Amino acid sequence: MSVAASIRKLGFRRWHERQLIEAHASLVTAFLCVIVIAVCLDQFHWRESGAKPWIMLALIVAGIVLCYKTVTFYFKMLFRAEHYAEQAVCSGCKAYGVIEVLASSACRSQDVASGSWLSVRCKKCGHDWTINTTPPGQPSEKYL
Ligand SMILES: [Zn+2]
Repeated sequence: MSVAASIRKLGFRRWHERQLIEAHASLVTAFLCVIVIAVCLDQFHWRESGAKPWIMLALIVAGIVLCYKTVTFYFKMLFRAEHYAEQAVCSGCKAYGVIEVLASSACRSQDVASGSWLSVRCKKCGHDWTINTTPPGQPSEKYL
């Protein structure tokens, strides 16, 4: 589901909250991976016979890979949520996150070259503005 569809369904504040919950759940996963890595490193001995050293080595490698993936996912989700939240304040009435999505660049294929955006309206005062959904330094629509 695209960000625009998610915000339409949940509302901006709930969408933002869920992004932060997902991000922090991945951070907890990364922390658990660090614990698994530390335990496996402590139990890892080449002198032991059988499959135990290989299992420990596999767990260490898998833990490192999963830890890397979850930490990068954490920062991606956190920065995306912050990027949207910075632009979710109405300049007309200063209300935060009380928006409805009118249109998005994902709906209009001819606008993809000009960057991605969300056209939104304040539910309190009716002020319209555009949220740039392409984070600084990100030329693509990776975050949609
Ligand atoms: Zn407003």
